[in-house]
Amino acid sequence: MIIAEKVFSRFEPGTPGRSLPDLCRALLLQQQQAWPMCREGIASLAAVETREVAAAGWSALLQFNPRRIVSTGAKVDAASIGARPCFLCQQNLPAEQKGILYGNDIMILCNPAPIFHQHFTIPLVEHRPQEIDPYIETMLGMARDLAPAFTLFYNGPKCGASAPDHFHFQAAPANAISVERDAGVVKRRKLLRQDGHVSLWTLDLYGRTVCVLESRDDGELASSLRTFLRAWGDVLRTTEEPMMNLLASAHDDVFQIILFLRRKHRPDAYFREGEERLLISPAAVDIGGVVVTPVEKDFRSVTGETIEGIFREVCEEPSILRKIVERM
Ligand SMILES: [Zn+2]
Repeated sequence: MIIAEKVFSRFEPGTPGRSLPDLCRALLLQQQQAWPMCREGIASLAAVETREVAAAGWSALLQFNPRRIVSTGAKVDAASIGARPCFLCQQNLPAEQKGILYGNDIMILCNPAPIFHQHFTIPLVEHRPQEIDPYIETMLGMARDLAPAFTLFYNGPKCGASAPDHFHFQAAPANAISVERDAGVVKRRKLLRQDGHVSLWTLDLYGRTVCVLESRDDGELASSLRTFLRAWGDVLRTTEEPMMNLLASAHDDVFQIILFLRRKHRPDAYFREGEERLLISPAAVDIGGVVVTPVEKDFRSVTGETIEGIFREVCEEPSILRKIVERM
């Protein structure tokens, strides 16, 4: 059910001549004026420190962002989730929070603990579990409506979503997540498969198990993603959604999905005690190259090698990607 007072504005998917990015910016302005938590969250980004660390063939940007402790430290086990009021359900939103109603069933909201100056959380109106399959077409349509300003992303329920019980995407400024730029570097790209109008690439020497699906045809791209996910499930012998982080965007009429294949939510170091503990909980933004460290000690001490080790630990083996492609 849609609560009328929560609706800042409406946008019909695919409306020509109307800019969804403009509407998102207008929402952000209104929320910064009317909602102190949002204003403070965005203002706090001015004090956020960043530092680049290099690994073999790639680099990552560390972001020291204490406000992200809420998300990085979030308990996502079923008991903790069941015991809290859902923060994405409309009736539980802060009084000042409003959003853009996209079609009839999705809201675009400002993230009050942002990683980027423009950072949106995009939940379904209804409280339904995080799973990508029913929303692949919605994701691509929305990526087109948000282009060229924003990129949409998705975290699987067991690898980064802090509300695994309530379906949501997020959006960040286009190219703010390093992998979006790296995926365009020709010498990195290795073609694994060409299927009709869809091409499937991986990125060489990238330290993460990743693939990039591209097409001008959003229908064919959606069906290729489903084929890929089914083949992955077959390889893992499961019908559950494989663990993934996705980014979806559209540039010059080409739709692009970047998919990180995961096997683990949090690295072992996350669960260590005291000084040994490393509060890094990789989701799409982190694995995409902008690694959020809410704890200062971690921000100062982490090296490229540490990040490389964490990525290797939480990503699927590269051999799994080969097996998936063979089965498609
Ligand atoms: Zn909910």
